[in-house]
Amino acid sequence: MIRAAFSILILLMALPARAEVTVRIFARTKPVTVVFTPRQGEYRLDHGDPDGLTIVPGETVAVTLNDEKVIFRTLSGISGVADTLRFTPLAADALFTMRAPARAEEVKTLNGSLMISSYPGSLLVLNVTELEDYLPGVVRSEAGRAGPPEYFKAQAVVARTYAYRTIDRHELDGFDLCDDTHCQVYPGIIGESVIIDACHSTAGKVITDSQGVLIEAAFHGNCGGVTASSEDVWVAKHPYLAGITDPWCGYSASAAWVKRVSLTEWYDFLRSRGVMPGEETALYSPAGSKPVRIMNRTVEGKNINSEEIRLRFGLRSAFFAMRPEGDSLTVSGRGYGHGVGLCQDGARAMAEKNMSYEKITGFYYPGTVVTDIKNARRPLRP
Ligand SMILES: [Zn+2]
Ligand SMILES: [Zn+2]
Repeated sequence: MIRAAFSILILLMALPARAEVTVRIFARTKPVTVVFTPRQGEYRLDHGDPDGLTIVPGETVAVTLNDEKVIFRTLSGISGVADTLRFTPLAADALFTMRAPARAEEVKTLNGSLMISSYPGSLLVLNVTELEDYLPGVVRSEAGRAGPPEYFKAQAVVARTYAYRTIDRHELDGFDLCDDTHCQVYPGIIGESVIIDACHSTAGKVITDSQGVLIEAAFHGNCGGVTASSEDVWVAKHPYLAGITDPWCGYSASAAWVKRVSLTEWYDFLRSRGVMPGEETALYSPAGSKPVRIMNRTVEGKNINSEEIRLRFGLRSAFFAMRPEGDSLTVSGRGYGHGVGLCQDGARAMAEKNMSYEKITGFYYPGTVVTDIKNARRPLRP
């Protein structure tokens, strides 16, 4: 009920510059036991009892799912059962860590407050933080740790645009964003100052199209010299996601690659698609011909999707040419990833040439501008 009222309030407000976000933590592994530990500052734990508890650094609280309730136990032996546990920081700079001992999850350092309740089959661990505090961790996980400041600024406005555009994705689940690849990977609070500074210095800045609508801020590792249009890779067409020629990313090892696949494996794959060996010659390119980005290749009336070939043989992209040589299939390709939108290797090179982050995003998303979130709109839902 409170949640519904809160959501309606959010919808009525025009995108605020300092937005609070509720992020589901450990969304992929969905643990049934987690451990909360204050790292800096004290926390109040509300568990339904009017007095609550104060949790100090060094104390830990283990929380386990128990049907539709949660059980907690502190290191010093206090325990109880509750519908929802709420951990509220008692100092502005408080930090805590979250662990999921039985799951392959890195320990996360988080700020803000935490709510833990039951969810079908797992705990629902929700971290309420500021969107601007959430971004540096997202930028590090999506953009890597190496690069000049303008590169990270470009990635910061991309991640912020993406977050604002998708902020209602989990509305029906009772939170805003998950911490996994479905939304953007959120490892928690990070320490890399170049990334934190890039987020701070672009605070509230997003990318919009000519109508002021937040763009679909797609990006990938390396485009191989030409970006892909969104229409060719996905179905959605956006004028700012048309293919462009990229002179910046050729220095990278991902720009051009060769992979050899055994003909036995290749023929097995073709047979699984109903194509007999000998019928597939239309897929081959003459020696020395350039790779092409073709999503659907047709053989004997059967559709062979390049993305399927990419996944089956672990290719870096679906931008390739292939031909048999001896007992193997030689695949010569370009780029890394889907190729749509901002090319990260190219963006790094532009930043190294002292180009501004606005110039970088304007190059990869033609016709867009960087503006303040207060001037931006979300796209209307289909
Ligand atoms: Zn998600
Ligand atoms: Zn590129």
